[in-house]
Amino acid sequence: MTSSGLCVLATGPEIAKLLSLVESKRSISDASAEPGKPSSVLFCSPCKVVAAGYFDAEKKGVHVCENHLGNSKKAITRTLTHELVHAYDDMFGVLNDKPPLDWSSCKSRACSEVRAAALSGDCDYTAEVARGNFSPFNYYNRCVKRRAQLSISMQKACADSAKCDVEEVFEQCLADRRPWTDN
Ligand SMILES: [Zn+2]
Repeated sequence: MTSSGLCVLATGPEIAKLLSLVESKRSISDASAEPGKPSSVLFCSPCKVVAAGYFDAEKKGVHVCENHLGNSKKAITRTLTHELVHAYDDMFGVLNDKPPLDWSSCKSRACSEVRAAALSGDCDYTAEVARGNFSPFNYYNRCVKRRAQLSISMQKACADSAKCDVEEVFEQCLADRRPWTDN
């Protein structure tokens, strides 16, 4: 982790657990890693893209965009947890497929987005209300589906199938709460 103030703000047991699992798994496959020292997966710096953060599947790292992150500790923690779930999925796999995750598969991508939205707190009721969504009826599932669909539809190849992809994997991926439970 860099010494950036914003990244240091985002601490807590959930982030620590995800980070240590991802870092230790990554160091096994990272030839440039120092023996016995976990390789870093978290990069904090300003970004050109307009996002609070993103997972870079090529560099196998989570990029935290300091210039778009805001300064609410809750929001920073949500962003970081969301992106670390993608990093976890990349390294441990989803839908019973072997890792690394195939990001060219819209279904694998949809599964990771469902998990990231569900496990990060992106769909807590207060977060939904802050977005102007006040209906409490089945808000959680609707929020997870909507956000997963929105994320994967940004990929050209998944834009047309996004709704079906999310529906198809939803139940299985929502129930997959690794690393909090082993299923
Ligand atoms: Zn995502």
